[in-house]
Amino acid sequence: MAPHLPDHQRLPVTTRLPGTRRECPIGGELYSCSRTVKAGHLMCPYHWRQVPKNLQSDVWRTWRKFNRTHADDDWKAYLEARLAAITEVERINRGRH
Ligand SMILES: [Zn+2]
Repeated sequence: MAPHLPDHQRLPVTTRLPGTRRECPIGGELYSCSRTVKAGHLMCPYHWRQVPKNLQSDVWRTWRKFNRTHADDDWKAYLEARLAAITEVERINRGRH
């Protein structure tokens, strides 16, 4: 078991990442989404709907697995799934802005 940590070190694991303020991570040079993201979600509902179903399920599957195991490999798998979903939505939106 993890040793007792002060409250400020017990934040949800997503807040360990730089750039994961609770704001939608989708954006580029010309366009930036600043919609609010609900806790436990990767991006705003508008952009999440654009993520292909197989990538959505990868994100959920790897996230749930990491929550069970807290293993570094599972964290890496989650980050890869997360990045794939973000990359795909940005690719879809590139032509629209
Ligand atoms: Zn968004």
